[in-house]
Amino acid sequence: MNTNSVHISKKPSSIKGIFSLTPFTLLDYPHKTACIVWFAGCNMRCLYCYNPDIVLGKGKIDFDSVLSFLKTRKGLLDGVVLSGGECTLHKKIIDFIKEIKTMGFAVKIDTNGSNPKILNSLIHDQLIDYVALDYKSLPHTFTKLTQSGLFSEFEESLSILIQSNIPFEVRTTFHSSLITENEFVSMIKYLESKHFEGNYYVQHFMNNVPTLSKLDHSNKEIQLKNFSTPKIKVIFRD
Ligand code: SF4
Repeated sequence: MNTNSVHISKKPSSIKGIFSLTPFTLLDYPHKTACIVWFAGCNMRCLYCYNPDIVLGKGKIDFDSVLSFLKTRKGLLDGVVLSGGECTLHKKIIDFIKEIKTMGFAVKIDTNGSNPKILNSLIHDQLIDYVALDYKSLPHTFTKLTQSGLFSEFEESLSILIQSNIPFEVRTTFHSSLITENEFVSMIKYLESKHFEGNYYVQHFMNNVPTLSKLDHSNKEIQLKNFSTPKIKVIFRD
């Protein structure tokens, strides 16, 4: 993800849930020009998290300031990506997205799947257009990897998305010390068992970048093999 960001004007009267704003990206919303709103805070502490400053930091920008920025981007951007951190944790997220939709932008959320209730509401009320769901690992490594006990919530979010008509992607960050090849094969089987069909994106861990925990070098040997099944296309992203 592109984390180049700008800090825009603040309004002390409003809630500051946002850490920073990336004004333009061609990479983070499929087939759309977009900006990225980075929400502060997360209910997971993934060992490989690239955004420790966002996860551990406090919000610096209020919602009104972002809405003011978006008003200046009408007709210039197609969409808004809500990322973080975990955007679904924020109390005013639904009202915030309603305002964004009223301006005519498509909305994508990046989520760890820990808040199926909010996800369900957003889909039901047609407030989001695309979801990128993080699939961290299977239960026996999930707790260690995310330092949270939120697998069942993730599982519920996955089921909600599979049963909905909303376009979404499932994606995994792969680190060779955290997920073995056998575990990875089991992760694909798990998706099959849930009747997931489509592209499964696997992003290899970026070595030598700051992360929440210090990790060993991750090797990319797994990318030399084809793990696709008749219903699931496994796509490695750089
Ligand atoms: S990688 Fe993990 S800790 Fe970091 S923002 Fe995503 S869910 Fe939160």
